[in-house]
Amino acid sequence: MELRRIGVFTSGGDAPGMNACVRAVVRTAYTFDLDVIGIRRGYEGMIEGDFVEMDPQSVSNILQKGGTLLKSARSERFRTPEGRARAAEQLRKFGIDGLVGIGGDGTLRGAAIFYEEHGIPIVGCPGTIDNDLFGTDETIGYDTALNTAIENIDRIRDTADAHNRLFLVEVMGRDAGFIALNSGIGGGAELVLIPETFTEMDKVKKRIHSLMSAQSRSSIVVVAEGDELGGAAKIANALRADPRFERIDLRVCILGHTQRGGAPTARDRVLASRLGAAAVEALVEGHTNVMVGIINNEIKLTPTRNVWQRKKTINYELLKLTDLLS
Ligand code: ATP
Repeated sequence: MELRRIGVFTSGGDAPGMNACVRAVVRTAYTFDLDVIGIRRGYEGMIEGDFVEMDPQSVSNILQKGGTLLKSARSERFRTPEGRARAAEQLRKFGIDGLVGIGGDGTLRGAAIFYEEHGIPIVGCPGTIDNDLFGTDETIGYDTALNTAIENIDRIRDTADAHNRLFLVEVMGRDAGFIALNSGIGGGAELVLIPETFTEMDKVKKRIHSLMSAQSRSSIVVVAEGDELGGAAKIANALRADPRFERIDLRVCILGHTQRGGAPTARDRVLASRLGAAAVEALVEGHTNVMVGIINNEIKLTPTRNVWQRKKTINYELLKLTDLLS
């Protein structure tokens, strides 16, 4: 079936670069003579028919902006067959015959189920700061979040150093340690704790204690929020309860949502632009239920189910490097 009108939406956690991706989708679609409808608030807006017509001018001056002009949402209703049927009905009513969805693994899960149930062609773009999607070397937003984390770690280092303090810095990553590991290396952290590796509290205590006693200087431990020992606050409580840490000046800093905001880096802008354009091209060529990604600098299509059923692994060499350099 020939495509005439496509819908584009951003969904799940917002990520810097989503706007650049939407812009690329709209402008590429225009070159194929396709109408584009912006779907506001992800799947929730799809269910409610919260649609807006878009043209190349409507995406002027958004490339460099963080957040998402289409807004994002998490939708409980879309998890139900009734919610998805309502969404399909709205799309048909507006003559939308193809979709580009920009989001993380939940968004792509929803996309796969939706396609299997309702047959509306859909191509996904990996948009999440977590970088935890199989089928692409990097996800849109990851590089910006990583640089924000490093910038903040640098600032914390200044104050930590002035007082010879131990800082536990928590970065985002519920299930994945990409931001923690790479910001740890880039920020010169003495220790990095990530969900992919099992960490024994006793070993962590010993390591931190020896770092702090051997050097009369600061130490920074980067903790991914999803580390199995708990977040930075929980680990700090365990350290404080141990008499060996009585004399150590220990602070916690949770970077939280600062990592989601801000202008996308050059790398994210280019990635998002390439993926947005590739998603439309894939739809026009008749691909569906796939995610566009970039692997070794080449555009690749991965079946959507593989994206969340197969795990993208961290580079264990980098963990060794943290130990070596600390
Ligand atoms: P991030 O990784 O940044 O959190 P995400 O896309 O993984 O982004 P989620 O909240 O997990 O964010 O998913 C976004 C939306 O996708 C959910 O609110 C829900 O509407 C839909 N979704 C997620 N999982 C499913 C599922 N199993 N079935 C149907 N819809 C789903």
